Amino acid sequence: MELDDIRRRIAAAESAAGRPAGSVTLIAVSKVQPPERVEAVLAAGHRVFGENYVQEAGAKWPAWRARFPGVELHMIGPLQTNKLKPALELFDAIHTLDRPSLAQKLARQVQGAGRCPQLFVQVNTGAEPQKAGILPDEADAFIADCQALDLVLSGLMCIPPENQDPVPHFRALRGIAARNGLAGLSMGMSADFETAIAEGATHIRVGSAIFGARDYS
Ligand SMILES: *Cc1c(COP(=O)(O)O)cnc(C)c1O
Repeated sequence: MELDDIRRRIAAAESAAGRPAGSVTLIAVSKVQPPERVEAVLAAGHRVFGENYVQEAGAKWPAWRARFPGVELHMIGPLQTNKLKPALELFDAIHTLDRPSLAQKLARQVQGAGRCPQLFVQVNTGAEPQKAGILPDEADAFIADCQALDLVLSGLMCIPPENQDPVPHFRALRGIAARNGLAGLSMGMSADFETAIAEGATHIRVGSAIFGARDYS
């Protein structure tokens, strides 16, 4: 299956970058995919998945979790504050901490829940008006604000602009993470995950290269 090919390509990219085998976490992005494709990847032993929509994830994953122990679910889509409570029940990681209002609500709910998912701050490295994320210039202050709210950050996430060389964006993200002492870098998708690994990605989010094209119709 495609998963095996992706695993080989990740191992080759780790090795080419002089990085230890297994240092990159593959998040298989299963949004909108037919259930049989996701089940095939679960049956092959993969356990780390990404979803973009709280409602869709909530409809699919509790049953799969019961059948396939050890699932780790990552939220990689925009998170509305009114969906935060179910999101905290479903997800082990949130990659889209992208604004102060979300950080404030998250801090309050995490205190009540007594457990916190892994958190990645989304940075809008291309400063694209239509895209979510903290602007690069404002990232240091936002990270400090999150930490002042007692939120423990795992790292940063970015989605580079389409049809541009992603390398400057991956490097910008790595620079912000390094100067803030954050280890995690969620960057790289189907088209550019090997480049992202060369630039230090710790988490890659790969959908269509594993499951095939998404059909939104
Ligand atoms: C859908 C999505 C992906 C996966 O994209 P592919 O090109 O199918 O690999 C990765 N990251 C985010 C944030 C996404 O929304």
